[in-house]
Amino acid sequence: MSAASELPYPYEAPVSQALFDRASAVTPGGVNSPVRAFRAVGGTPRFMVSGKGAYLTDADGREYVDLVCSWGPMILGHAHPEVIAAVQEAVARGTSFGTPGEGEVALAEEIVARVAPVAQVRLVSSGTEATMSAIRLARGFTRRSKVIKFAGCYHGHVDSLLAAAGSGVATFALPDTPGVTGAQAGDTIVLPYNDLEAVQEAFHRHPGEIACVITEASPGNMGVVPPAPGFNQGLKDACRENGALFVSDEVMTGFRTSRSGWYGVEGVQPDLMTFGKVMGGGFPAAAFGGRADVMAHLAPAGPVYQAGTLSGNPVATAAGLAQLRLLDDAAYETVNAVSAQLQGLVSEALTKEGVAHRVQNASNMFSVFFTDRQVRDYEDAKRQDSFRYTAFFHSLLSNGVYLPPSSFESWFVSTAHDERAVQKIADALPAAARAAAEATA
Ligand code: PLP
Repeated sequence: MSAASELPYPYEAPVSQALFDRASAVTPGGVNSPVRAFRAVGGTPRFMVSGKGAYLTDADGREYVDLVCSWGPMILGHAHPEVIAAVQEAVARGTSFGTPGEGEVALAEEIVARVAPVAQVRLVSSGTEATMSAIRLARGFTRRSKVIKFAGCYHGHVDSLLAAAGSGVATFALPDTPGVTGAQAGDTIVLPYNDLEAVQEAFHRHPGEIACVITEASPGNMGVVPPAPGFNQGLKDACRENGALFVSDEVMTGFRTSRSGWYGVEGVQPDLMTFGKVMGGGFPAAAFGGRADVMAHLAPAGPVYQAGTLSGNPVATAAGLAQLRLLDDAAYETVNAVSAQLQGLVSEALTKEGVAHRVQNASNMFSVFFTDRQVRDYEDAKRQDSFRYTAFFHSLLSNGVYLPPSSFESWFVSTAHDERAVQKIADALPAAARAAAEATA
């Protein structure tokens, strides 16, 4: 081990640090989304200046193999030539019209063609907007107030859905976010993930009051914790028996875990679904959709209001459509194979150093928990030795591998993660596993 790698944060990043200092003066915490700030792992967040394929380059000129992929969207790698060409062509025609356009029709058609339960879809600009709107629609359709969500599932920063949320809320161990009123949170019932009995009991305690159950189709925001066999079908059945809607949040899994998302893996039919990330091709585009009779309640067809100045933006829809059209079966085979290979390499390196761990996956999404037990819910996820992740993360970072700066996040790969990229990770893993083994709380 070199002397530098024995330091807690093995090397300096002076240009990123200077940018972070400037950012911190004008932006709370120096970032525009909390997990980017490296607070869970310490050190200086890297300011990236460019991305190409599987690689990112930071402001200090260092190159990293990227295992974050913009938190999921970049499934073809960065700056894919065909996506960039589609964007350039769209930009040259104008950036926003505030009218309908053909690009948004084509993107909606592509989503409807891929995901059978979606008869109609409404485009929005973020996953948060998608889940917020889906919940409003479910409440408007059922004329009920209460919503069941699961601890550790993150559905964006919607007021009523921030209770016991994963992702940044888990990373920073925020119990309940100030600014969310009792009234906003009071209609949210938070249950343990993978616990169907708790769901039955909640329906029993609140007859005729529950508008919907919302769940991540396969959670990735407490690390990757796939649904137990039959869990999603059980949710669907419980909703049907009790006159509630089953809302499957596929913002993360949609068009990533298969060409029709987690629905394509499991086949459970939701009433409403939400999408984001991959469908935007790296631009702000998201969507919610589902049953035609439910979607017919949305304005202007129906009474439930929902709108957006930039919804269906021509540049974002061009990027999303170009990306989706490139995502054929062969692309998913490539991503799945790279993911499986990396899962094996990570586990091998940690096993060699005697580090207790579980690599969990949902199709090509995966993450590592530093624990010897299977992680089935948020309580299990919180019991891992996160201090080992910190050491593991910094060792990999110093050797040119960019992981999520939190142990509560999924890792993502792309079709651009080729042999050279995998080899760079493989070369960096032994030292990272040793760092994890030697870490102390
Ligand atoms: N739902 C899920 C499952 C997510 O993973 C996320 C973001 O990570 C969201 C919703 C919110 O999406 P956005 O960050 O685009 O608002």
